[in-house]
Amino acid sequence: MSEVLAPARHRVALVGAAISGSLSPALHEREAAALGLDYTYELLDLGDLPPGWTLRDAVREGVTGFNVTHPAKQTVLTQLDDLSPDARTLGAVNTVSVDEGRLVGHNTDHSGFLAGLRHGLPGIACGRVVVAGAGGAGSAVAYALAGAGAAVAIADPDANRSAALLARLRAAFPGGEITAAGAVPEELARADGIVNATPIGMTGHPGLPFDTAALESRHWVADVVYRPLDTALLVAARAKGCRVLDGGAMLVAQAARTLALLTGATPDLGRMRRHLRTLTTREGTDS
Ligand code: NAD
Repeated sequence: MSEVLAPARHRVALVGAAISGSLSPALHEREAAALGLDYTYELLDLGDLPPGWTLRDAVREGVTGFNVTHPAKQTVLTQLDDLSPDARTLGAVNTVSVDEGRLVGHNTDHSGFLAGLRHGLPGIACGRVVVAGAGGAGSAVAYALAGAGAAVAIADPDANRSAALLARLRAAFPGGEITAAGAVPEELARADGIVNATPIGMTGHPGLPFDTAALESRHWVADVVYRPLDTALLVAARAKGCRVLDGGAMLVAQAARTLALLTGATPDLGRMRRHLRTLTTREGTDS
């Protein structure tokens, strides 16, 4: 008689600070339900955890995988047994799988950005791209674009951050064209597209990350900000005739990649995207 195996139970947790408003539980659990998975997604806020708490404590209590967000993307590195090659290069993880007790760090932010870009703006030229912001999101975006063969110009007023990212990317892609961005009009004159990877445009950080005067209809413009989905930058770019992509594309695609990595299932990006829109409309952040 053949043995009937019980379906795997997935208990995933997001680790980070000030995460009570995260959209990830709803996004993950709804897609997992549609895929027929036994899957829960809980929040482990660092502010509520005892000093000295580690991922292993959660594993002992039955957690089977993690998402990791600010400020833990770098700080959890010392708790891991291994890193995927791209997480090692980026020096940051946003997903941790538990494989026979071994904690392995991955980064689905960069592959999520690229998948979201390809899905949301099919057929765009990616020869040269400007990335505004060299923080966590900007590093993932620039890494993804450089890995896809784009010449990447990085703009960040924090000279230390942009220098550190330039050094990391040049080491990872020795043949690549990775430069510090000059003035935005000159950069845009040579670029196919531009990505906002700064917090400017999100709720609480109003405004534009750069002067949009030099944008032309041939440019594509992507934002990583997803609260709101329709940022002032995207409104301005659309008015210029540019093709635009909101931050929901990256959010959904990185979540889909994490779900796939932790369960082996194949999430439906279009369905997750529709779900995100319902979630953000419901909370009134989608203008
Ligand atoms: P961060 O603080 O690590 O980095 C932001 C960087 O932007 C800083 O280095 C800062 O100096 C730079 N910056 C500020 N103003 C600038 C300007 N005008 N031009 C160029 N650079 C400028 O922040 P982060 O973690 O990278 O997050 C940035 C945004 O990305 C947030 O809104 C976050 O919510 C969003 N995000 C979205 C996703 C997604 O999946 N869509 C994923 C991660 C982060």
